[in-house]
Amino acid sequence: MQDSLEALEEAYRLALDYRRGLAGRPCAPERSYDDMRAAFAAPLPASPSPAVEVIRELARTGEPGLMQMAHPRFFGWVLGGSHPAGVAADWLASAWGQNTGYHTSSPTAAAVEEVAAGWILEILDLPRAASVGFVTGATMGNFTGLAAARGEVLRRHGWDPDADGLFGAPPIHVHIGEDAHTSVFSALQYLGLGAGRVIRIATDGQGRMSARDLMREVRAREGPKVIIAQAGQINTGAFDPFAELVAIARGSGAWLHVDGAFGLWARASPGLKALTDGVEGADSWATDGHKWLQTPFDTGYAIVRDREAHERAMTTWASYLPARNEGERIPSSLVPELSRRARGLATWAMLKTLGREGVAEMVARHSAVARHMAGRLGAEDGVRVVNEVAINQVIVEFGAETESAGARRALTQEVIDRVVETGICFVGGATWRDKWVMRISVIAADTTVEDGDAAVDAMLDAWREARAAHPVGA
Ligand SMILES: *Cc1c(COP(=O)(O)O)cnc(C)c1O
Repeated sequence: MQDSLEALEEAYRLALDYRRGLAGRPCAPERSYDDMRAAFAAPLPASPSPAVEVIRELARTGEPGLMQMAHPRFFGWVLGGSHPAGVAADWLASAWGQNTGYHTSSPTAAAVEEVAAGWILEILDLPRAASVGFVTGATMGNFTGLAAARGEVLRRHGWDPDADGLFGAPPIHVHIGEDAHTSVFSALQYLGLGAGRVIRIATDGQGRMSARDLMREVRAREGPKVIIAQAGQINTGAFDPFAELVAIARGSGAWLHVDGAFGLWARASPGLKALTDGVEGADSWATDGHKWLQTPFDTGYAIVRDREAHERAMTTWASYLPARNEGERIPSSLVPELSRRARGLATWAMLKTLGREGVAEMVARHSAVARHMAGRLGAEDGVRVVNEVAINQVIVEFGAETESAGARRALTQEVIDRVVETGICFVGGATWRDKWVMRISVIAADTTVEDGDAAVDAMLDAWREARAAHPVGA
């Protein structure tokens, strides 16, 4: 065991080398998935190896296949930058070997998590008495919030699904915007509510749910009801009209859950907070630490106004587990897992490192960089910014509007490929409405306007090359 400790030192050295050289690396992996499978493929080791050599081999073999997700010009998907403070706290969580299932088994892990939970409620300005479970990400945040919703709306109709299951229960009407994130459908699937058995509510051009359509659908049915809203549409960054949705939910006895994986963090910025007005009136919220808060993966939060409903949905109990006194917060009673890493340490460390002002500055800066990039891109002939840039998301289509949809699609993909090839930044693509678009998500901790400019320069060069290779009408 003592010999193995050298492995920690080696990992530390390798991690520092990687992070110090990060900004100079090409963003995209140098090797493909197939290359990496071939590089790692080996028979199950029959005999032991020194831990330090194992770690050295992992880094040496693995680094060429890394995507530089913590790079300041990584704009792919919507991912945070694994800030060194959060990573360091996470190292300690693992090195200390703390299982955070119970408060008495690791007082430090449970207490830090409890304090961090309070800070999360404060910085997001959500009801201070709400409960916060530390989950793997927004997918499990959605699952946990919707599990509490399922239990509570059925209990109000005389049924306890946590004890009796769903067979024979009154059907729950689940209302969801047309442009909800795919992970919410997964959560509905896990919960036995059905990913397809939902009432889809119309959305506007930015993906915002129509309150009028929701009102009509909610009024059309009797029985237990859940409404799933969104803070930050994955492509456009748009916010649902929360104040209206809250009024509809309250008026109909529906539970309102909000998927705010990244968008809920707009509340940390005084200049952007108004985008989320009313969201504090919802019943549950899911958000991520590993996106805008920059903790390492995997960290998300399941936040529920009604602590009892939250605990009923998630409590694990057995006689061998420590007893609980009134008012104590049991980490495992708010999340699906029993045994898990002390995830709260990274959240505590990030909030302490950045502080309220640091988070506000970062969220505002990312949104300003996104607006700046959108402004420059949209000014170019044949380049269209498709969304209203409210926060950190920009989606862009390339090609003249007079060209066919197929031609624009091919051009947009060619620009994406050329940009990624330069290594200067990383972007991906997605379908938005009937268009194939380039997605830019400005969310890595260190990204500045200069990074945005360097990326736009690369994008416009790529566009001009693609245009020259495929002239209009060719
Ligand atoms: C990222 C994201 C999710 C899923 O979150 P994970 O952390 O990947 O589980 C859900 N909803 C939205 C809007 C997201 O951006």
